[in-house]
Amino acid sequence: MTHPHPDATPPAIAGWTSISDGMVGAIGGTPLIRLHKASEATGCEILGKAEFMNPGGSVKDRAALAIITDAEDRGVLKPGGTIVEGTAGNTGIGLTLVAKARGYNTVIVMPETQSREKIEFLRMIGADLKLVPAKPFRDPGNYVHVSRRLAEETGAVWANQFDNLANREGHRHTTALEIWTQTEGKVDAFTCSCGTGGTLAGVALGLSDLAERAERKRPEIILADPEGSGLYGWVKNGDLSIQGSSITEGIGQSRVTANLEGVTIDDAERIPDPEALEQIFSLQSEEGISIGGSAGINVAAAIRVAKRLGPGHTIVTILCDGGARYQSKIFNPEFLEAKGLPTPPWLA
Ligand code: PMP
Repeated sequence: MTHPHPDATPPAIAGWTSISDGMVGAIGGTPLIRLHKASEATGCEILGKAEFMNPGGSVKDRAALAIITDAEDRGVLKPGGTIVEGTAGNTGIGLTLVAKARGYNTVIVMPETQSREKIEFLRMIGADLKLVPAKPFRDPGNYVHVSRRLAEETGAVWANQFDNLANREGHRHTTALEIWTQTEGKVDAFTCSCGTGGTLAGVALGLSDLAERAERKRPEIILADPEGSGLYGWVKNGDLSIQGSSITEGIGQSRVTANLEGVTIDDAERIPDPEALEQIFSLQSEEGISIGGSAGINVAAAIRVAKRLGPGHTIVTILCDGGARYQSKIFNPEFLEAKGLPTPPWLA
């Protein structure tokens, strides 16, 4: 079977005039969008990588493709084989779409608390979906452990996105290279939230390699963390303590995953939900850009970093997925009111 290796030139660099090799060839090569209001307010260039434009609608298409390609290359994934994964939804969507394109099946284990839109989309595209109660990682009933056991019991391939380094390598060879090319190497800082840490780590490692090769200063890498995650404390003082909670999905972490190990993270911002929602609603109503919760956290962190660095800097962040995936939550006045969160004025 022929397919682009993660090392292959990303579509953005191959150019929009070329033909994509099936759905898989359309992953990556996303636009880098200037966020006007944030840029004008800070005197910086604040740029968002439009990952919601991937075929599966999120940044996780890249990790899914890298993980499946790696399993094929290692000979563990055979034609007609099955991939099992525990996911907040987006990785499940990416894995299922890439699996359909390449002749595999997926079993997706997901906490039942995730958005209805992701659950319904996974069913629609033909994933064998198993919803489990939301449990902390230390509990054997946590979705990650359920997925590992299921793979072991059935002899399927466990994608293991949290600790499988193919995840960050995918970002290192595509997302980082695209950002470097799109900004012509002018990136002063990169802000990113973490679920597995694959995006943050892969982009951090890739940009650092590229800067070194070009004999330029490497960009500052800033973790954007929601409340209820341990990583902010880990970056600040090595302590994975958790406080508060967040409505954002797919991000926040209570442990240092293998993908995050050995990666230099210069600083961290902890973003409360109202601060992220302000950016989500403003981008929606004033710039026509529809993003989900984790992207809102990322943009809010980029603005904080821009204010700290001062005018004239370029800050890149990730727009992980789109708002439509959270219509029943982030864009639902009843849900927001019940959580004591602000409602977008045009929906009130
Ligand atoms: N945002 C969303 C919406 C996600 O689904 C995920 C993945 N769970 C992330 C951000 C985090 O990406 P990563 O796993 O690469 O840290």
